[in-house]
Amino acid sequence: MIEETDFCEFCDGITKPGLVTHTFERNGQKFTFGDIKAQVCQKCGEVYIDGAAMRQIEKRITEKVFASV
Ligand SMILES: [Zn+2]
Repeated sequence: MIEETDFCEFCDGITKPGLVTHTFERNGQKFTFGDIKAQVCQKCGEVYIDGAAMRQIEKRITEKVFASV
């Protein structure tokens, strides 16, 4: 569960909402998505992707994996 203000699991820094670009790997293929809703640690830069955004990404990756077969 991601709240407006959260704390980093690694360094106890404060995380803030932001948009990130992240590359996911599935079946040896790489998928890069931009403008992903996430919480970003202000201290170490760790990215926590929003649960709803993650589900959208999973869906799009699944579609791409099937499309490429
Ligand atoms: Zn951190």
